[in-house]
Amino acid sequence: MSRVHGLTELFQMPKRQNIGLIRPLVHELHAYVPGEQPKIKGLIKLNTNENPYPPSPRVLKAVKAAVDGRLRLYPNPTAQVLREKLAKLHGCRAENIIIGNGSDELLAMAVRAFVEPATTEGTRRRTASASSRRRLQTVQYFHPSYSLYPVLADIHGAAKNAVALNTNFTLPSVRELEQGGRWDFHAALTFVTTPNAPSGRGYSTAALEKLCRAMKGVVVLDEAYVDFAGENALKLAMKYPHVIVSRTFSKAYSLCFQRVGYFVGNAELIAALDKIRDSYNVNGLGQVAAVTTLEDLAYYRVNFRKIISTREELSRALTRLGFRVLPSETNFILAQPPGTVLSAARGKSPRSRQDAGGTLDAKDWLQKLREKKILVRWFNQPEIKNFLRITIGTPAEAEALVRAVKAILR
Ligand code: PMP
Repeated sequence: MSRVHGLTELFQMPKRQNIGLIRPLVHELHAYVPGEQPKIKGLIKLNTNENPYPPSPRVLKAVKAAVDGRLRLYPNPTAQVLREKLAKLHGCRAENIIIGNGSDELLAMAVRAFVEPATTEGTRRRTASASSRRRLQTVQYFHPSYSLYPVLADIHGAAKNAVALNTNFTLPSVRELEQGGRWDFHAALTFVTTPNAPSGRGYSTAALEKLCRAMKGVVVLDEAYVDFAGENALKLAMKYPHVIVSRTFSKAYSLCFQRVGYFVGNAELIAALDKIRDSYNVNGLGQVAAVTTLEDLAYYRVNFRKIISTREELSRALTRLGFRVLPSETNFILAQPPGTVLSAARGKSPRSRQDAGGTLDAKDWLQKLREKKILVRWFNQPEIKNFLRITIGTPAEAEALVRAVKAILR
């Protein structure tokens, strides 16, 4: 059968025939699953780590003022003004910065720029032995961490090396990684979510520096939540030519909707990423919003403090109610509901189990809270399936959550 079809023919083709048109890699791919975005009136949405506070009034004004006939024009292709402002903020040069359509786009570009697909061999690297070829094809990350990384590796046809974090999601030392024998110090690309998601655990810059020094490939320190943490590792991106720090305007700067993130790193690596960047990857309104954000940082610092204080307050309240709450340096907490006993739960509905005097597991809690119009996140992964990930909202939202928890416990 010819592979050339008219559009109408294509849409009318039976499903099985269409499959032949899709690359097997894509056909078999498990896509990233983002948190739900339901539009339910009165819903308290604590499932996707969005900031409960709006962008600053100055940012809203600037975005509104930019909505006029100029929308017909392309935006600045390299987000030049934003890069210059960020360079000033971070004490580097614009050449050290690349802006993405959210940091997700840049994470994907890093895989494309630094990792060989396992299915093809780069000409420059063709002479490599089988084991070093494998390393050049490897995307490495800790588990659990940001669940996008394995998806990006799969999309690219790269190999994955997921290595477990220590108990309670702490960072293994270099020595522990050496002894474990699974960590590849030569992996082409290593992602480290710091502070960690989904646990919220923060990692010290000293520990991260030791890890970076031991690595031979590119290391991306994904600092999506770092503004809620005690320290950040930006200086490592300035100090080491193979280290990149990833940041986003989504979380701390209330701009999820606008999709703006950035990498800071060595100019040569940034230039390589720039080569594979779509010409106009960052939309104009996003650039306006991010530039104005940087002119109003004091507004955001107040919000960081509010979110951190709500986080600590909520952690204490849930702990008092019998939850096990992990220490967090992010705008979310990972909390294990009281008395979660998974084995007892299998095969029965939450109601019948509760009626029988049993305990609710974390997935049941997700459902019970949803019935009370509070949406949190539950991950069906062995290491964290006993936990709920709860985004820090306003103090009023935290109080509503605590009230709902008390009612469920009753
Ligand atoms: N890194 C981590 C750890 C995240 O949780 C997220 C948000 N899901 C991102 C990066 C991407 O954020 P954005 O694309 O909105 O910049």
